[in-house]
Amino acid sequence: MTQEEILSIDHKHIWHPYTAASRPMDNLVVKKASGVFLELEDGTRLIDGMSSWWSTIHGYQVPALNRAIQQQLENMAHVMFGGITHRPAAELTQALLEVVPQGLKHVFYSDSGSVAVEVAMKMALQYWHSKGQGSKNRFATVRSGYHGDTWHDMSVCDPVTGMHSIFNNRLSPQIFLPAPQSTFHGQLIPEELEEVERVLSSHHEEIAAFILEPIVQGAGGMRFYHPDYLNSLKTHCEKYDILLIADEIATGFGRTGKLFACEHAAITPDIMCIGKALTGGYMSFAATLCTADVAHTISDGSPGVFMHGPTFMGNPLACATALASLELLLAKDWKAEIQAIESHLNDALAGLQTLEAVKEVRVLGAIGVVEMKAEVDMKAIQAALTKRGLWLRPFGKLIYTMPPFVITPAELQQLTNAMVDSIKAYGEKLTEEK
Ligand SMILES: *Cc1c(COP(=O)(O)O)cnc(C)c1O
Repeated sequence: MTQEEILSIDHKHIWHPYTAASRPMDNLVVKKASGVFLELEDGTRLIDGMSSWWSTIHGYQVPALNRAIQQQLENMAHVMFGGITHRPAAELTQALLEVVPQGLKHVFYSDSGSVAVEVAMKMALQYWHSKGQGSKNRFATVRSGYHGDTWHDMSVCDPVTGMHSIFNNRLSPQIFLPAPQSTFHGQLIPEELEEVERVLSSHHEEIAAFILEPIVQGAGGMRFYHPDYLNSLKTHCEKYDILLIADEIATGFGRTGKLFACEHAAITPDIMCIGKALTGGYMSFAATLCTADVAHTISDGSPGVFMHGPTFMGNPLACATALASLELLLAKDWKAEIQAIESHLNDALAGLQTLEAVKEVRVLGAIGVVEMKAEVDMKAIQAALTKRGLWLRPFGKLIYTMPPFVITPAELQQLTNAMVDSIKAYGEKLTEEK
């Protein structure tokens, strides 16, 4: 197929994330990828500043991951998980339990982050059902969150950016608190935790669990909040008998400078979701982990089993790849790698703060965010970025990067140069138009 034929089929028949079938986007045709580079059909090479949505932490064509898949293929690509288990699942589970927050003991594997969140929410509901407290069946969360696109996940996503209005009265109404205002690098605002306590104390009889992204609110606004917020929230949840679900799907595996973002607050959630970087971005795979209390309460109640079981649960190829990815991460000084990226992003992006069009620059771990004052013209800014050899996917007012951890200093310099130049040019054009 020629590039034109690929694009023609794509335009006519293929949906892409959050797009209109009748007004297709000018998608780039990627032929292959290696290291931190995407290579297009026409030979253009772009640095992937998005890590394919938080996932390709080791970059592309990683020898150890390729090898793990090939070796696993010689045994089996897949086998059902009902009544069957296998070495890749056992080995991955053992490795995960050594590194996740202490106290998480049981792992439920599924095929995507959204499903992992559905599973977490079902665990919370079954937990209270088993305790004979079925009226604890709602969820509390904070605004600006993102937890996936399936039905119950949507109900706990930010009501505005999560498009609750479209699905309106078909979504379960949940309890929303304001998005945390205490910033990661700023002061804790005690009043907002008093507000959290007020809401939890008046609604605890109907709340099964509090769900939120630890420390970094990702797709709902790229916001970094104070570790003590999370720590206090955990304390309030314990006091009011509310389970805490930490959605680590974006933050897990080092992205924020800790292996899991919960570590910033030194907490163990009752239930934790991981995905995205779990397989180093090689394939769709996720897991929901929980404490012995959650697992045993569900299992000792009625119906005595946890009611979920995906066809591709515990997929051996995904387990083998995830294990290889975790081993690769732990075998190197990943903390130093993230710190180097963090300090480069801080230095390189700081100057943008003075631009008229820029509201705020913020950096945490291997995440760099430039928040503009107004919604960006995504097509214009993306064209400017790709012309300078960089792939980013801005949304709303946000132009941001979370590069693969393996990015070299020279590549990172190229990335931030492209980002800074594009944003400056974009900002100047806005000023001229005024
Ligand atoms: C991406 C994401 C999800 C959904 O994961 P999918 O694999 O896209 O279904 C859920 N929660 C968070 C925090 C995410 O970043």
